Amino acid sequence: MLTIGVMAGERVAVGVVEENRVVSAISRYPDGETLAETPADDYVARLRTAIEQVRAGQPIGTIGVGMPGIIRGGLIEESPNLQQLKGLNLREALSSAFPSSSIMILNDAEAVAAGIAATHGELGKLVRVWTLGTGLGFGRYPQAEGVWEAGHTVVTLDPKERFCGCGGVGHLEGILGHRAMRLRFLDMEPEEIFQAAMEGDERCRNFANLFHRALAAATASSIHLDGPGKFYLTGPNAKFVETGLLHVFLHDMVKMSTLQGSYFEVIPTPDEIAIIGAAVNARA
Ligand SMILES: [Zn+2]
Repeated sequence: MLTIGVMAGERVAVGVVEENRVVSAISRYPDGETLAETPADDYVARLRTAIEQVRAGQPIGTIGVGMPGIIRGGLIEESPNLQQLKGLNLREALSSAFPSSSIMILNDAEAVAAGIAATHGELGKLVRVWTLGTGLGFGRYPQAEGVWEAGHTVVTLDPKERFCGCGGVGHLEGILGHRAMRLRFLDMEPEEIFQAAMEGDERCRNFANLFHRALAAATASSIHLDGPGKFYLTGPNAKFVETGLLHVFLHDMVKMSTLQGSYFEVIPTPDEIAIIGAAVNARA
């Protein structure tokens, strides 16, 4: 019986997982464009097709799907960056196509955290990951009961900070999210902002500092609630992170001696990591 891992977001990537690796070709959809506007029914149909492709006629035991948003019991309760999927019970929708499989839908950053744990030999440890993309994801392994929308941690009391995709004021994603950065700098793309910051442009340098302070602040909150440890940074915009600067800011924010010793590591996350993580959590 196959175990299938699925990374579903603005793009879909699906593979067959054995142990802690992908053993099939990865089926990806679409090339180039995104599914951000694809209606829910079509979205589910795309997922089914991609799963059918990798199963190649074999029976499926388990399917794990990582998906952005708040997901409980297979129901997508919130998905700010794929709003058409809000209210969809994805587990039921997939169960009708794969009735004999056990199916788990989990948050995509949670899948990434599990994938990192599985591929870095850290399945026995606490692994946390910030995923920096359109929105701001937070994943924790092992899975724990709760909402864990740490991307929406309040990091500033400035009422003008209202760029978060969820509409909330002062949120981490409202500073670090790709969409939020574009709304803040209507005349510059994120790449240009960080390039200008490096070249000493004052407005951009101030923003780059805010970006790092905000991420340090949300990390400090996680440390104060869940203890110190290792924080991975990944996703397309992790390339903007200067870990040295992040450590300096974090050091100012976490002073209790028993909570010291956290550190950051930027890693690339190929689709494989999330596919493996979705499968690992679904199998557990
Ligand atoms: Zn928010």
